[in-house]
Amino acid sequence: MAVKVKNMDCKHFINGEYISSVDNKSFDNINPATEEVIGQVEEGGAYEVDLAVKAAKNAFETWKKSKVSERAAILRKIGDLLLERKDELALLETMDTGKPLWLSSNVDIPRAAGSFHFYANFISTMGTEAYPMEVGAMNFVVRRPLGVVGMINPWNLPLLLLSAKLAPCLAMGNTVVLKPARWTPMTATLLGEICKQAGLPDGVVNIVNGAGRTVGEAIAEHKDIRAIAFTGETSTGKSIMRAGVSNLKRFSFELGGKNPNIIFEDCDLEEVVETTLRSSFINQGAVCLCGSRIYVQRSIYDKFLEKFISKTREQIVGDPLEGNTNIGALISKQHYNRVLDYIETAKKEGGTIETGGNPVQSQEKGYFLEPTIITGLDNSCQVIKEEIFGPVVTVQPFDTEEEVISYANDTHYGLSASVWTKDSSRAFRVAHEIEAGLTWVNTWFLRDPRTPYGGEKQSGVGRQGGMFSIDFYSEVSTICIKY
Ligand code: NAD
Repeated sequence: MAVKVKNMDCKHFINGEYISSVDNKSFDNINPATEEVIGQVEEGGAYEVDLAVKAAKNAFETWKKSKVSERAAILRKIGDLLLERKDELALLETMDTGKPLWLSSNVDIPRAAGSFHFYANFISTMGTEAYPMEVGAMNFVVRRPLGVVGMINPWNLPLLLLSAKLAPCLAMGNTVVLKPARWTPMTATLLGEICKQAGLPDGVVNIVNGAGRTVGEAIAEHKDIRAIAFTGETSTGKSIMRAGVSNLKRFSFELGGKNPNIIFEDCDLEEVVETTLRSSFINQGAVCLCGSRIYVQRSIYDKFLEKFISKTREQIVGDPLEGNTNIGALISKQHYNRVLDYIETAKKEGGTIETGGNPVQSQEKGYFLEPTIITGLDNSCQVIKEEIFGPVVTVQPFDTEEEVISYANDTHYGLSASVWTKDSSRAFRVAHEIEAGLTWVNTWFLRDPRTPYGGEKQSGVGRQGGMFSIDFYSEVSTICIKY
């Protein structure tokens, strides 16, 4: 059955109302799979950000006093409504991003809803610490909300990543000014309506659409914003930190990665090939946790490569609305050209394109690229050092544990890694040596929302998940009572 697509204009959502920009400026929203204009997006700026901050500041006075049970009920309702409207939201996410519809339906939207349900339950059962002193005193640790929090989001997992920040932030009684990525405004814009329907008071969540250089910078600089939760490129994070330093904002940054997959000779080869296919190309290779540097022990290198290439060639790239599509379109013409440039660089650096490397010929419109495997490069090459964020991976052989650990850590990134071996001692030894915020052994993309999530080195600042998010979105203080 053909999926019925619909266009949508995106306004700002401020103080519970959808509004246009003060100067009536807007820009085209392009579907990357068809290159068609699918709506107009209001182009905000410092004026709209200021309006949103004033609304958030005002709403904070009552929201900060709301009961935990009230906040939990609203969060639960937001999660329920996201699931009720899953089909509509998934379609909007796919039209904005170019990712396959099955992925939006099975991962993006349910995981977004899951964050609201998780934090509704988390705050309902959460306690606090108390430290008794022998002199006859008790120290109680208490948490208060911060105030207005700014959120700046990327385009790759728009609603999912936004919800992972928004749910704990609201749970702790903060109010929010958030900016979706310029390329992907639709699900965030609809979230405004859903929050209102769930009973969230006006002004608690405010959404301003527009560019990073205008709206993003205005959020980063605003003196009444207490903290910034940002996901995006490392270079953008640095610029946000510089802009936000004037009033010493608190930062939570989820940044880029160049994650290693380390495959030892005693792995389950069939399983590794299947998982590597996903960790390389799912979401067009644009998941920050994708493993883009694949290291394979020399004794199984040829066998792995042959199977991996053969499976990669079976991947169907094309219409994201078709159920059998594995890989959809890249987010924009600009990004598509950037990824193609990296493939050219790989050739210049002496790399061999084992498969892929070209635009998809069968597609007349849209930014479709073949999944690409490159060999013959070493760690000094630009293609191995820099994050490509597309369906492009490199494969390199290694001999020893020490050698592969040094390859894996030879980067300024440190987001995630995966290690494949049946030897549990080696698994733990290697995992412990890898400089990454999250290392998987014999699996990939398995997440428990209670555990810390974030990057080491230049892959991030701070950790999210469970209590780690609660700590970020609250002011923790001590009350010492002498009795
Ligand atoms: P980006 O940094 O270009 O943009 C992210 C957001 O920042 C957008 O909303 C953008 O408009 C805004 N922005 C841009 N310049 C700004 C500025 N000067 N001031 C304030 N805001 C600004 O990133 P992207 O291309 O949207 O996303 C891809 C990147 O995100 C990749 O590097 C990827 O690894 C990273 N990412 C990381 C994680 C993680 O969990 N660590 C998750 C997803 C994506």
